Amino acid sequence: MDFENEERFVGAQFNESEDSETELSLRPKHLCDYIGQDKVKENLSVYIRAAKQRDDVLDHVLLYGPPGLGKTTLAGIIANEMGVNFRVTSGPAIEKPGDLAALLTNLNEGDVLFIDEIHRLTRSVEEVLYPAMEDNVLDIIIGKGPSARSIRLDLHHFTLVGATTRAGQLSAPLRDRFGVIFRLEMYTPEQLSEIVNRSAGILDIEIDPSGSLEIASRSRGTPRIANRFLKRARDFAQVVGNGEITKEVSSIALDRMEVDALGLDSIDRLILKTMIKNYNGGPVGLETIAAAIGEEAVTVEDVYEPFLMQIGFLARTPRGRTVTPAGYAHMGIPFPGQQVMQGV
Ligand code: ADP
Repeated sequence: MDFENEERFVGAQFNESEDSETELSLRPKHLCDYIGQDKVKENLSVYIRAAKQRDDVLDHVLLYGPPGLGKTTLAGIIANEMGVNFRVTSGPAIEKPGDLAALLTNLNEGDVLFIDEIHRLTRSVEEVLYPAMEDNVLDIIIGKGPSARSIRLDLHHFTLVGATTRAGQLSAPLRDRFGVIFRLEMYTPEQLSEIVNRSAGILDIEIDPSGSLEIASRSRGTPRIANRFLKRARDFAQVVGNGEITKEVSSIALDRMEVDALGLDSIDRLILKTMIKNYNGGPVGLETIAAAIGEEAVTVEDVYEPFLMQIGFLARTPRGRTVTPAGYAHMGIPFPGQQVMQGV
């Protein structure tokens, strides 16, 4: 299919060409600038204050939730608020136990080590991580065969912040070693509108409140997408308007990008349409949906499904996914059970 290899514009994953230039400047540095996620913030600020009062290192933290919701940002804030260095890596980047050993031995006292996509660590790397997280030691095997021996190195105390889109895929021993586990929620349009206004201020973009709310309500609950839409709306404001982003300008920009009023893009609509037309609205298995639209099952599960479920267009049942009556209504297709229901 033509979109198969294309970067998805409304995709919540980091997109080098769209996000890299501004991502750094837009990232809040302090907890007070981090918008939304109130429960997480409240608890985290207590843990941070308590650790600082005791002159202690913060416990290991696991953050989970769909991409673009602010996991990396929050990890950076933790390091900043604790006044320590922030080291960033990811599960797939740590190929061998030796790679992790090198990272760990380079940490200073109290540092935050952020491992994105932590569910993708290999088993042998995970095994190096356990004693490091628990006892701040590194067990390394030197040599091979009968002459091999294990030596134990002491590490500085550190805080591991792990991020994952799929907490269920984390091995139980790894999950159990995190003292603090937070699930990040999708943002409300009001919170996203605040994020858009904040970003517009940093990037020196003129925007009126109705413009930011329009962008916010079409951003699928995700700050990264909201920031991306803001930058595209700025282009439209410059070319078709007078430079200021209004509701009308945002609307034109998002319509041109085929993002509908609720933030669904062409792939979301294709998923719903395929399920309705080819599988009577389900139940249909994840693999089947993925194959039908030419995407990987993990992408459907991590990127598309959470939002479609959040807005109540898709439901998960033991036999597979189903399109809800609201999903049918959004696609302008009558729900099959409707006449029967009305006749009851
Ligand atoms: P994740 O690691 O979950 O994929 P990021 O932390 O990279 O997400 O967030 C993506 C972008 O969204 C960041 O650059 C930041 O500008 C913005 N962002 C995320 N969460 C917030 C928030 N709570 N308040 C303000 N901006 C946010």
